[in-house]
Amino acid sequence: MPRLSNRISTLNDGGSDGWEVFLKARRMAEAGEPVIELTIGEHDIRTDPEILRAMAEAAAGGHTGYSAIPGTDALRDAVAARIAARSGVATSRANVLITPGGQAALFAAHMAACDPGDTALFIDPHYATYPGTLRAVGARPRAIATDPARAFLPDPQRIAEAAQETGAASLLINTPNNPSGAIYPRATLEGIAQAAEAADLWLISDEVYDTQIWEGAHLSPRALPGMAARTLVIGSMSKSHAMTGSRIGWVAGPEEAIARLYDLSVNTTYGVPGYIQDAALFALRQGTPLETRIAEPFRRRRALAQQILAQQNSVGLVPSGGAMYLFLDIRATGLSGESFAHALLDERRIAVMPGESFGASAAGFVRVAMTVPDADFAAALETLCAFAETRAVAA
Ligand code: PMP
Repeated sequence: MPRLSNRISTLNDGGSDGWEVFLKARRMAEAGEPVIELTIGEHDIRTDPEILRAMAEAAAGGHTGYSAIPGTDALRDAVAARIAARSGVATSRANVLITPGGQAALFAAHMAACDPGDTALFIDPHYATYPGTLRAVGARPRAIATDPARAFLPDPQRIAEAAQETGAASLLINTPNNPSGAIYPRATLEGIAQAAEAADLWLISDEVYDTQIWEGAHLSPRALPGMAARTLVIGSMSKSHAMTGSRIGWVAGPEEAIARLYDLSVNTTYGVPGYIQDAALFALRQGTPLETRIAEPFRRRRALAQQILAQQNSVGLVPSGGAMYLFLDIRATGLSGESFAHALLDERRIAVMPGESFGASAAGFVRVAMTVPDADFAAALETLCAFAETRAVAA
């Protein structure tokens, strides 16, 4: 076999292997062990039957050929209208490129923002794929640490310093945040916007959890003065409409960037299947009632979790306002997030993600996806707390 490229061989370099606990849990479940999986961010419901009907009708109706590459006009219009309604920023079809999921949108946005060798900044803790996505475009990922004592909110001063030091091309942020659940307040976003302007950065704003808001309000930084010209918003139907497997999302940004990203789509994905786009259009036309219904179980389980966690003090809950996860401080056990997650799986058959999978700032934390039915979720969380209690005493 000829030599594999450095780019592909080093894609997953650095950081701990986030998927180890997840894969171990899957193997145990396959072997028939009763494992409760609270690892990946996937709903315990499937895509709504009405959305599937729209998908089937579109396919049966012939929308199975090559589809419009930037997205169908109707879907781009619907996405643009949704963005305009939620953010107040004038947005049209020309500002929207439909992509195979938020993941492809993250890749595309960084392709637009970075040349090979450019530094791409991102906030730690972060969604597991970020560094690999940045390497995939040839950029140098540079993490900016956050502080658990400040609820993992980014410090604009640190961003400004890192941008200055590296001459970075872009900054990737994520609100509501995976894994911490933080919703960035206006003041934080204003500080970030200032830092981006001062260093002439592209701001890439991952907003795939924008329908999962439990406290406070989601603010898109694209809505801040002057920011529409340097912001690329990442959107997705995965979390908002329980359409993870349909692979459909978007990049929204300045017209010129979207026009260039059309070229990228032509030469990589060649678009998203037409029947999936039609299903997404149908889903968006259901408006907020459907989005609220899909987010509701997570809102309920978060309230349950708050009650359970209030009754003990071995596990701390990171103050958060959104997303389908709890981010738990298990430092009182004296264990790393990784050791805790492995021990919890081995001894109690509950799988959670180690904080370290999301970056060094989250060492000593674990992420719990609220993705099993309420009673199972409450029981699992109680078991987790009881487990932490035994370790806290021993520590
Ligand atoms: N961004 C964040 C923060 C995520 O958590 C995820 C998925 N877990 C994605 C992007 C990508 O999602 P998708 O490709 O399914 O849209």
